[in-house]
Amino acid sequence: MGIAGAGKSVQGKLLAKTLDYDWMSTGELLRSQANESLKKEMLLGKLLDDDQIINLVEKYLAKEHERPIILDGFPRSLAQAEWLIKELEKGTIQVEGVANIIASEEVVKDRLASRGRPDDTNKAINCRFEEYKNTTLPILEYLRNSHLKVYDINGEQTVENVQAQINSIFVK
Ligand code: ADP
Repeated sequence: MGIAGAGKSVQGKLLAKTLDYDWMSTGELLRSQANESLKKEMLLGKLLDDDQIINLVEKYLAKEHERPIILDGFPRSLAQAEWLIKELEKGTIQVEGVANIIASEEVVKDRLASRGRPDDTNKAINCRFEEYKNTTLPILEYLRNSHLKVYDINGEQTVENVQAQINSIFVK
């Protein structure tokens, strides 16, 4: 978990490499698969429809997987988190833990500006910040209350230092 630009994908890929896990980002998957109308919404920085996202993740997880998966960008809303917890309770999936990468808007703005993805315009970034504050951040409490282990990571550091924090938790 983390605001846009906090380092989820960079760190997710690094951790996947270290642990020999797979890495799955809903954003990446959507950018490669979404139809034009979804792509338009993504360019505005809006969160997409829960049912569509859950369907996408469900289909992905239902495939044969030899290795555990690092989920990047999911869950991002209460409905998505509730779906995840329901699957956990059914025993269809297990979750080792949640890395919550914390970084301020000021810090990530510069990173997003230098990354320059098509949805990294000022308007879309502000929309993603709002979506994060209003819809994604509140689910951390729900995940904690559902007995998932949520680890707070200081994301305002170098890639190496953030990686070291994450490794100290997830690499045994
Ligand atoms: P970032 O974390 O930098 O915003 P992502 O690549 O993770 O970038 O996501 C890009 C966009 O994809 C989001 O702004 C949103 O439109 C869509 N998206 C990704 N994951 C989800 C999700 N779980 N629920 C709804 N929309 C999503």
